[in-house]
Amino acid sequence: MSFQDVLEEVLADISAYRGQGKVAGYIPALAKVDGQKLGIAAVLSDGRSYAAGDADEAFSIQSLSYVFALALALEHHKSALWNHVGREPAGSPVNSIIQLEMEKGRPRNPLTAAGSLVVCDQLIGRRAPDEALDELLAFLRRCAADEAIAVDETLAMSESHAGALNRSLANFIAAFGNLNNPVEDVLSFYFRQCSIAMTCRQLARAALFLAFDGTDPVSGEAATIPSRSRRINALMLTAGHYDNSGDFAFRVGLPGKSAVSGAILAIAPGHGAVCVWSPGLNAAGTSLAGAVALERLVERTGWSVFV
Ligand code: GLN
Repeated sequence: MSFQDVLEEVLADISAYRGQGKVAGYIPALAKVDGQKLGIAAVLSDGRSYAAGDADEAFSIQSLSYVFALALALEHHKSALWNHVGREPAGSPVNSIIQLEMEKGRPRNPLTAAGSLVVCDQLIGRRAPDEALDELLAFLRRCAADEAIAVDETLAMSESHAGALNRSLANFIAAFGNLNNPVEDVLSFYFRQCSIAMTCRQLARAALFLAFDGTDPVSGEAATIPSRSRRINALMLTAGHYDNSGDFAFRVGLPGKSAVSGAILAIAPGHGAVCVWSPGLNAAGTSLAGAVALERLVERTGWSVFV
């Protein structure tokens, strides 16, 4: 059976889940997305991409951006980044503020909203936020081998208008002295990284380096060194899905990252990268049909980091 057939079978298999779950409602522009959308794409070691369903339709990458921003921030700051953000699973909702108080403004890990705000601040460094955003976009375009990737500015505005909680998180972190840049500069970067529009196919391609120890197997270009790539995968496995990271590791067994737009990125080390998109979310904020699709995919391929 060809890999294309596998993807098509997976989608056919999970059709009963299409449209299930709740489309995120707290960002007005995101709430308008059609909950029936369902797409999956995988890119394997030779760079060939396979796709089924709505895999070529763009959506906002939301917190999938945290992974790419983290990779870049680690290139800039190396292990000094960990002075500002931890590496433990949070076991709490993505935008929880409670832990921040107990841990004195140093977020649990870079894959929570608070953690990503700190990563954004570090990535901006001493530059103008736009310059840092251009670097992130250039990184995504290079990794995805696609120059067309851009920010959906309407969505970014909508996120900013609905951003009271993220604003609170950023101010709270700033109160503990863990932001170097003005809160609004960090938020503007953060809302725009979340509003980058990409397709499943582009995202799977962009994340391929994480399946091959930091180096794009097609171009031979290193996005990061092997140890950093492995550590990013470790964080995705332990903290990539808010308070259902354990359940995702149990069911799928691959490093991954969920986003509120209903996208899930999964890394199969040595094999390839997969992105699935279905906007309906489970109670913890992970794509309901998306997680089932990945479960079916690993059943068929035998992919797991635990073999
Ligand atoms: N922009 C979203 C937020 O911070 C991203 C959250 C997510 O995808 N989990 O609210």
